[in-house]
Amino acid sequence: MKPDELGPMRALLLQRRAELLQGGDVPVEFEQQEVATKPDEDAAPLTEMTQVIASNRNRARVEALAAIDQALRRMADDPEEFGICEACDEPIAQRRLLLVPTATLCATCQREDEQANSTRGRSRRHLTDFR
Ligand SMILES: [Zn+2]
Repeated sequence: MKPDELGPMRALLLQRRAELLQGGDVPVEFEQQEVATKPDEDAAPLTEMTQVIASNRNRARVEALAAIDQALRRMADDPEEFGICEACDEPIAQRRLLLVPTATLCATCQREDEQANSTRGRSRRHLTDFR
């Protein structure tokens, strides 16, 4: 990717990163306080459930942050290769990168990858059904 394209892309990644960090674990604390203000016997399972939901949300956030850090590292290590599809070596469309700055596959290869994954998922489910 050319340096004049890399600049805005880097800014976009850093902005997403800042947004994710800002999101923080605040919702978890908020939900816990909510429960604490109204003592209720049903509160305990509810807290557990909201914690599970929150931890899933946090995990997604951690994964998103890791993907962004990885993208920033790729950008720093090999700026020319950034925005090139890992599977077919074609440049990834600019508008796709603006939407998904952490993408390592072009739209075509991503679709093929997802299709391959869903096919594997189906055959696994089928085996379970058979048992
Ligand atoms: Zn590709």
